[in-house]
Amino acid sequence: MTLVRGFLADTPSDPFRGGVMRTESDGGLLVRDGIITARGGFAVLQQEWPQEPVLDLRGGVVLPGFVDTHVHFPQVRIVGSLGMPLLDWLQQRALPEEARLADAAYANVVATEFVTGLARAGTTSALVFGAHFPDAVSALFEAAERVGLRVTSGLVVSDLVLRDDLLITPELARQESLTLARRWHGHGRLRYAVTPRFSLSCTDAMLASCADVLDAVPGALFTSHVNENPVEIAQVRTRFGTGYVDSYDRHRLVGRHTVLAHNVHADDAELRVLAERGAVVAHCPSSNSGLGSGLFPMRRHLEQGVRVSLGTDVGGGTSFSMLREGLQAFFVQQLLGPAGVPLGATELLWLATAAGADALGLAEVGHLSVGRRFDAVWVRPAPSSPLEVPLRHAESETDAVARVFTLASPMDVAGVWIDGDRVHG
Ligand SMILES: [Zn+2]
Repeated sequence: MTLVRGFLADTPSDPFRGGVMRTESDGGLLVRDGIITARGGFAVLQQEWPQEPVLDLRGGVVLPGFVDTHVHFPQVRIVGSLGMPLLDWLQQRALPEEARLADAAYANVVATEFVTGLARAGTTSALVFGAHFPDAVSALFEAAERVGLRVTSGLVVSDLVLRDDLLITPELARQESLTLARRWHGHGRLRYAVTPRFSLSCTDAMLASCADVLDAVPGALFTSHVNENPVEIAQVRTRFGTGYVDSYDRHRLVGRHTVLAHNVHADDAELRVLAERGAVVAHCPSSNSGLGSGLFPMRRHLEQGVRVSLGTDVGGGTSFSMLREGLQAFFVQQLLGPAGVPLGATELLWLATAAGADALGLAEVGHLSVGRRFDAVWVRPAPSSPLEVPLRHAESETDAVARVFTLASPMDVAGVWIDGDRVHG
C-alpha cells in the first residue's frame, strides 16, 4: 500500500447539475493494488496507517488523470498546420500524413510518439481515432499497452470522397474491424471503437457494416465526426437527403456508446435525438478555433440534456494538453457572450476528467474517490516559473485550479499514474 500526500482536487459529480469541486489542501489517499481504499486529511490517514510508505506530492496539485475523448493518432506530426478550413486542411495536410501509415514501420514510430505525447500531458484515458490501416491500429494498441494507457480505438473506415489509398470496401472493413476487435477489445485496458471517418466519406453500405461490427462486439464504442463545418454539412445533406446526426442514427449508430466530435452547427431536432439516445458530443475548442469551424453552442447542448465531454482533436487541435483545451473551451464560451456558458475551474476540471470517463463508460476512473483506480496527474511547476508564482498567490483552492488551467503546460506535469503505477515523471 502507498499513502499519497498532496493538494487534491476533483469533481465527483456534474457541476452543470449542482456538483462542486472537492479539494483537500493537505490530503491523503491510501492506494492498494492500484485502487483508492481510503481518502481524507493526510494527518488522519497517517495516524491510522503509520507504517505505509508515503508518496509525497506536495507543491502543486494532484488531479485525476485526464480523459481525452477525441484525438487522432496518425496526426501527431502535423499539429500546427494553421490557417485552413476543414476540407482543405484534410486534403492538404491530414490525409497525406494518414496515407503514410500504410508503412507499418512508420506507423510504429508514430504510435510511440503519440502515446508519449498523451502520457506527458497527463492524459491517462483516451478515445483515439485510429488509422485507415489495420497494422497501424495494432501498432497503436501495442504502444498504448507498453505505456499502460486506457485506450479505446479502432480501424478508421471510408469508401468515398477520400484519396484512393484510404478507401476500403464495406465487406473488407467489416472483416478487418472484427479481426482487430477480437485481438484487442477487452485486452488489458484496451477496447475497440467502430470508427467511420465521417458519414461524408461513407456509403450507406459502409455505415451498415459499422452497425454490424458494433452489434458483434459487446462493449465497443462508436465514434465519428458530426456538424463540424458548414460546407461539409451541406455536402452530407445533399448526399443523404437528411441531417448529419440522422446519417448515423438511421443505421442505429447513435446510443449511449456513441461519441461524436464537434457538433458546432446543430439544430434543435438533432440535439433532441442526441439527448434521447444518451450520446456524447466531444467538444474540441482548439480545433474549432484553429480551423475556423465555429463557436460551440454548449448552452443549447446542456439545455437539451446532451452529454458533453472534451477532446484535443490533435492534429486539427493544437496540443495534447487537456488543461489548454479547457482554457480554450473557456475562451469560446466567453466569446459567445450571453449565449455562452460561464466555465469556471470546477466545470473545466469536470470536462477534462469525470465527464470524459462517463462518456467512455469508464466507471473505474474520473475522480479520486474511494473505490476508483488511482489514475492521477501531478502538476508541479518549477520554482518561480510562470505558473508557480500565480499558483503560490491563489486566493482559494478553486482559484488555484483555475490558475493551473490558465498557465500549466506538459512541462509542468511532474508525474502521471495509472492503476497506481507511475507511467511518466
Ligand atoms: Zn477529429
